[in-house]
Amino acid sequence: MNTAALYHRPESEFAYLYTQNEVHVRVRAAKEDIKKVTLIYGDPYSWSTSGVGNADNQDTQNVWLSHKKVMQKLATTETSDYFEAKVSVPTKRLDYVFVVEGADGEKIILTDKGVMPYKRALLISKYGAFRLPYFHEVDRFQAPEWAHDRVWYQIFPERFANGDTSNDPENVKAWTDTAPDRQDFYGGDLQGVLDHLDHLSTLGVNGIYFCPVFKASTNHKYDTEDYLAIDPHFGDKKLFKKVIDAAHARGIKVMLDAVFNHIGDTSPQWQDVLENQERSRYKDWFHINSFPVVGDEAVDNAEVSENLSYDTFAFTPHMPKLNTANAEVQAYLLEIAAYWIREFDIDAWRLDVADEVDHAFWKKFRAVCDAAKDDFYILGEVWHSAQPWLVGDEFSAVMNYTYTGAIEDYFLTHKLTLSQMIATLNEQLMLYRKQTSQVMFNVLDSHDTPRVLTVAKGDKDLMRQVEAFTYLQPGVPCIYYGDEFAMTGGMDPDCRKPMVWAAEKQDHAMFAFFKELVAFRKMWARELAESELDWLRADEKSGLIELRRGALSGVFNTGKKAVSYDKRGKVQLSQLTADGKIAPKGFVIFR
Ligand code: CA
Repeated sequence: MNTAALYHRPESEFAYLYTQNEVHVRVRAAKEDIKKVTLIYGDPYSWSTSGVGNADNQDTQNVWLSHKKVMQKLATTETSDYFEAKVSVPTKRLDYVFVVEGADGEKIILTDKGVMPYKRALLISKYGAFRLPYFHEVDRFQAPEWAHDRVWYQIFPERFANGDTSNDPENVKAWTDTAPDRQDFYGGDLQGVLDHLDHLSTLGVNGIYFCPVFKASTNHKYDTEDYLAIDPHFGDKKLFKKVIDAAHARGIKVMLDAVFNHIGDTSPQWQDVLENQERSRYKDWFHINSFPVVGDEAVDNAEVSENLSYDTFAFTPHMPKLNTANAEVQAYLLEIAAYWIREFDIDAWRLDVADEVDHAFWKKFRAVCDAAKDDFYILGEVWHSAQPWLVGDEFSAVMNYTYTGAIEDYFLTHKLTLSQMIATLNEQLMLYRKQTSQVMFNVLDSHDTPRVLTVAKGDKDLMRQVEAFTYLQPGVPCIYYGDEFAMTGGMDPDCRKPMVWAAEKQDHAMFAFFKELVAFRKMWARELAESELDWLRADEKSGLIELRRGALSGVFNTGKKAVSYDKRGKVQLSQLTADGKIAPKGFVIFR
């Protein structure tokens, strides 16, 4: 047995409270190296002096009143197998060890003090058990229940709909011009959103994720000038309140984008630094490395410069990085966080460049949001492994680009083999507690990526297949505006084309498909949150994938030949040939 590969860590995604007293315990081992893992567990204070008890856990006088549970293989990655047991412990304290039997017949015990030969297990319960000392509900990772049955819809406000031409910026491009440049304006606004809420309700989505709406000079508004003002080109606070109230009346939750990593260089704070330099009262609001600080005009209006005397977002002179460890900056940003919840009743914050802001700040941010509103959802923009932010005291979820990226890399770009995709999906799920994976934000595209149909090289059957596959996964889906009408677009700014509202230019078949897909997802939200992901078949050669999510199962044909399949229940969603086969790019989801 490869004992060096055995890994466990208490109070992490390897041992955590799922509900108030149900604990999930996981252990990782080398792939195909283990025959059986048994969890030995019990309350650390439950001892008997009668000499009666579990013989595995007996020392000379006393017996630990422990229980045994055979662990189930939960997931397999390229290198590892993960085993899991779910145990309920009414006394809210847990000691545990793992009895591990190798495929080679070796038997060991994995304890808090390391790996020991099985015979020494007799004393382990007393001296070397892993421990969850007390189940603190306050420390349990919790996400709002409502997050489970969402289907989000992402709106880039400048490009969604122009409902009021009187607030347009100067020189707006014609809405029909489908070649946006980086600096272009089209005149989209909040009135446009209000006017099209029927569209969202018909589609069935029940969450709006707004890219930034606060006052800023660019079309994307990621360079905030004033966090307490709605951008005048989008409307005003009164109109924004109207949008939120109207959305809520339709059962639609609203998430705003907060850019707290950096501020726009047109902000009064940064302008004050440029003007007063070392004498500026805002000099400690930023990460300034030397004076004098020069603005972007001194670096030839460069979009990017590595020769700056201050830290920025990437190398963008227009986006000076905020010093979130500074008490004044904290007070300023935390009041903004509370303000939009308190005054406008928003349901969620999405946090831009969240990974470059300190953890200490995000913990305070979380506390402020929780105090302002029950069941608040916080989504961080983190593109890589995100465990440090997902312990329970910072974010509810992150934008799950790694997860959905693996799906795209197999289905659409063929960068991964089928087994590599499955290994990656499994590995991502094993990074997080189950209740975290349930609410992860699954996007196939966004304002920061090419559109899914473009990545699929315009193949709409393939796009439908990959969407259906994604909607069957753990985590909640998000539609990027216009995907429902089969909009195309490469990397930004091309993925930020104006929404297609001319009926003759909309793909109504794609809309009908999304409507069905959203309805399916909402109907099965609970099942898809609670159930595990079981791979029943993954045939590299034929490209046939079969998976189960509780009462649902799906068959996806990613190969080159049409195949027959066994009917196994009522069809929920499908893309089949006229004679009922699964053609390449086809699929069927059963109940
Ligand atoms: Ca407008």
